[in-house]
Amino acid sequence: MDPGNSLRSSHAINLQNQVIVNRQDIKDKQVAVLGSQRSGMGAARLLSHFGASVLLSEYNTDNFTAAKRELLGDIGATFEFGYHSPDVLESDFIVVSPGIPEDADIMKKIRATEIPVYSEIEVTSWFIDAPIIAVTGSNGKTTTVNLIHHLLKTAGYNSFLGGNVGVAASEILLDQVDVPAEKSIFVLEVSSFQLDNISSFKPNVALILNLTPDHLDRYPSLDAYYESKLGILRNLDDSCTAIINRDDPELMRRDIVADDLRFFAVDSLDGADTMVAEGVIGIMRDGTWSPILPAKALPLPGKHNLSNALAAVAAVTDYIDDAEAIAQGLMTFAPVPHRIEYVGKVNGIRCYNDSKATNIASTEVAIQSFTQPLWLILGGKDKGGDFTTLLPQLEGMTREVLLVGAASDIIESQITPALAARSLDTIEAAIDYCLKNGDPGDVLLLSPACASFDQFENFEARGDHFRTLVQSRKGWSM
Ligand code: ADP
Repeated sequence: MDPGNSLRSSHAINLQNQVIVNRQDIKDKQVAVLGSQRSGMGAARLLSHFGASVLLSEYNTDNFTAAKRELLGDIGATFEFGYHSPDVLESDFIVVSPGIPEDADIMKKIRATEIPVYSEIEVTSWFIDAPIIAVTGSNGKTTTVNLIHHLLKTAGYNSFLGGNVGVAASEILLDQVDVPAEKSIFVLEVSSFQLDNISSFKPNVALILNLTPDHLDRYPSLDAYYESKLGILRNLDDSCTAIINRDDPELMRRDIVADDLRFFAVDSLDGADTMVAEGVIGIMRDGTWSPILPAKALPLPGKHNLSNALAAVAAVTDYIDDAEAIAQGLMTFAPVPHRIEYVGKVNGIRCYNDSKATNIASTEVAIQSFTQPLWLILGGKDKGGDFTTLLPQLEGMTREVLLVGAASDIIESQITPALAARSLDTIEAAIDYCLKNGDPGDVLLLSPACASFDQFENFEARGDHFRTLVQSRKGWSM
């Protein structure tokens, strides 16, 4: 990409003590990037590309690979692994990766200075000319951004999908060489950790799906976590649209103000713009109802996915005005793996991989997507949530809860004796126990309500492991 071609000359960035008048002023800035995972490496590449002197500083030597060393050398960045040197505190600004908590020693040192701190999504947005659709929320982000991306592509847009999902936004931006700017849209999944350190980030469409408890291991309170998510609205002006879930009590409890505020809803239809009426997904605007698609034609299970689909439709209506094109996109969307993904049946027991359910609220909605007798695999690395909230959902419908991983004891102490639960340590043992004791027509659901890091590298590895095991069992069929 030629930086000169894509400059938006009047773009002003407020860097607390200084104002960068346009992107060219990044040139020769001394920038420290903390963290060498996807977003850190992406930010280093992006800022080097635009002429900054980048120091990439990574505390964890495990994260250091030869490939990273080579890449950083190629882009002319300096780097340090295994420590953060005092040079970090000599920077004009610092880009901090979402994995670094506020209470890390280096953050305390940085916060004691006046040096501005930004997230990778913030700095990347300085260089994006195309409209940005940004999505946050506790659950459903990845499904929704993928759906938005698919709707836009189906309607003929050059849609770029990144952020918290797949490829970092900075990498996407750098790699879009030779793509014409017109009809380009950036669809970004934005986590609360990325929103913690925004300053001027101003998406054209900002969508909040829901606010439910999560990440209590990183935030001092639930409110602090919710406030972080609401930060996505902070810089919106009259050129932007805010989209909110009208069914979400936590969102509706807040007095959200935006010039263009729209609502989607499955249940609270009064005042909603995008909704399901008499079984049909559609848009109500200025008193006129535009039907799009019968809800039952949506190729995604569960009411929560209906909500995600409405959110996606609401996000694209200013870009796609043909209801037929939106309907086409909705019908042809392929579900994202690890989100209530059907992986086949064994002895008549249908098996679902919902490894992405890493918090209690997402497990709740997965449970609600089924009416069959359920074998539920719960457990992993606990994040401090309250598992008793699952009890009303599960009473009467679970055969047994199968507990695996580090959180087994905590979960068992909270859900027994109300529910039958059994500690089995591993996912493999849980699958085999269910297949031995279950009946045709039952459902086996891996929806752990915990992070995966106790036994797996990430939730994808956990879900892949589950899928492979199920599909290797005797009698398996799709
Ligand atoms: P995220 O990217 O926010 O983690 P995903 O689309 O990956 O969201 O979905 C993760 C899990 O969250 C899913 O497996 C499902 O159980 C649950 N989920 C998805 N959409 C919603 C929603 N709108 N409300 C509540 N839970 C949801």
